[in-house]
Amino acid sequence: MTISTLGVVGAGAMGSGIIEVAAKAGVSVIAREISPEAVEAGKRRVEGSLAKAVERGKLDEAARDAAVAAIVWTTDLADLASCGLVIEAAPENLELKKELFGVLDSVLGPDAVIATNTSSYPIIEVAMVTGRPEQVVGMHFFNPATVMKLVEVISTQRTSEATRATASAFASEVLGKRVVHCKDRAGFVVNMLLVPYLCQAMRMFEAGHAEAADIDEAMKLGAGHPMGPLELSDMIGLDVMLWTAESLHDEYNEAFYAPPPLLRRMVAAGHLGRKTGQGFYSY
Ligand code: NAD
Repeated sequence: MTISTLGVVGAGAMGSGIIEVAAKAGVSVIAREISPEAVEAGKRRVEGSLAKAVERGKLDEAARDAAVAAIVWTTDLADLASCGLVIEAAPENLELKKELFGVLDSVLGPDAVIATNTSSYPIIEVAMVTGRPEQVVGMHFFNPATVMKLVEVISTQRTSEATRATASAFASEVLGKRVVHCKDRAGFVVNMLLVPYLCQAMRMFEAGHAEAADIDEAMKLGAGHPMGPLELSDMIGLDVMLWTAESLHDEYNEAFYAPPPLLRRMVAAGHLGRKTGQGFYSY
């Protein structure tokens, strides 16, 4: 199915990036935020990022203006009725996502596909609140969505082949991303491998095995990684790291997914990494 209008629910860190990528690709976007203030904040994120792209010579002014004009902002989910695909990028809260999926199911046309960008919840749980579980799929973008090339397309037990194909074709052919397919299991591909590695770096740091800067330097120079594991954890956000490790641990019950005690304490202290300016480098 060809998508001419994309709906995006939530224009925070992830949603704003998805909106920008789609608008730059010439797709009409209807972006839903929760309040007029949140709409203004979402607009600022998208338009600020487009302005930076112009400053850096990556986008000309006409393309920026076309992208801005391609986006309609709303606080009303009913305004998404004409969308062929909706990507939900609201906060990581299962009850909220279920509620949104229920409303989207009632306002969208019968052929529309609904995707969630969730990092940690079983996609089948949001699919089953709709009357169209065959048309629900995971589309897991990476942060920042304007830069990161990968989209994991996740099929549940009920996702149809046509829905998987629609999501994949939209991500690859329209948005220019690289797609990998995987099953609806916590961590998908990337987080299932990445999170235990990042948590292990935290355990080494907590045990006094090496300084934070030395752990990061070792992995940059010794393994060719662009960022070390502790700076990457700070960038992802330590609250996000904690939820993700908890969801992997709940799913697989393997000790190596358990959040390290220090991570829990840092989050409890409000030290969330880049978001608060307090992370592994201030300990
Ligand atoms: P965020 O908090 O930055 O943004 C969420 C946005 O949703 C906010 O702007 C908020 O105002 C808005 N919102 C709240 N309730 C809403 C509603 N009912 N309808 C519409 N909008 C609403 O969160 P984020 O980091 O962008 O994460 C969004 C989703 O993407 C989560 O499911 C998260 O797990 C997932 N994700 C995050 C990352 C990441 O690195 N941040 C990466 C991949 C996936």
